[in-house]
Amino acid sequence: EQLVLFYQPKYNLSKDEFDGFEALVRWNHPTKGLVSPSKFISVAEESNLISEIGLWVLKKSCIFIKEFNEQHNKDFIVAVNASAVQLMDDGFEDSVFNVIKETGVNPQHLELEITESLFVSSLDLVFEKLNFFRNMEISIALDDFGTGYSSLTYLKTLPITTLKLDKTFIDDIVSSEVSLTIVKSVIQIAKSTGLKIIVEGVETKEQLNILSTLGCDYIQGFYFSKPIPEEEIATLFAKDNV
Ligand code: C2E
Ligand code: MG
Ligand code: MG
Repeated sequence: EQLVLFYQPKYNLSKDEFDGFEALVRWNHPTKGLVSPSKFISVAEESNLISEIGLWVLKKSCIFIKEFNEQHNKDFIVAVNASAVQLMDDGFEDSVFNVIKETGVNPQHLELEITESLFVSSLDLVFEKLNFFRNMEISIALDDFGTGYSSLTYLKTLPITTLKLDKTFIDDIVSSEVSLTIVKSVIQIAKSTGLKIIVEGVETKEQLNILSTLGCDYIQGFYFSKPIPEEEIATLFAKDNV
């Protein structure tokens, strides 16, 4: 009972408003306080606890977004991170299917965020799995794009809907001509291949202005909001934001 879910709002630049969240897990440890997922997710993967944790995150996120959308009469999407280990689990598709059925969430309000780390060895299997979700009308985002084993092949072969460009390219976008060029090109690739583009880790007005000029669709970053607990979401949106 020590895991908690935070939600980070995503800002839609063309609509000029928030229209989704990413669910981010934290471990509220009795003596250590809030432990970052980057500290314990890999341990959970090694110890096979990740599927159970991931399922809990998924269920809670679906319940959250269903209630949020009903309450505010909105079509916000919640994005849930799926670990590569969890994705490759035999029962993953059934688990997701069952959560959708049990919670009654509209699958169009759910997006799975995946990373490229495990595709290298089993692209066919990943393709099949992702296709299953696309047939259910669940969106698929490729997270941390541009880092690790990024390959343009994934954009060509996998049925993804969204590209999330990693924060490392945004950090120095104001000062680095190379980063600016890379971001510009990735936005163009995404747009011309029909993918939604989200840029992660936007912290300043200057970064935002550049991305806005480059035609970026979505922004996720501390500039708009840090990940916040559910109670604060209610306050944020109870005001006049939605
Ligand atoms: P991610 O999926 O790429 O999530 C984005 C991370 O960037 C989050 O860190 C978020 O707090 C952080 N972030 C967003 N905007 C900014 C910004 O403007 N500045 C800075 N400095 N950071 C920003 P967080 O919550 O610590 O999560 C780290 C990673 O842990 C996530 O990266 C994801 O890979 C993993 N993770 C989190 N929750 C889950 C989960 O439920 N399941 C799985 N499998 N992995 C998770
Ligand atoms: Mg993510
Ligand atoms: Mg990321």
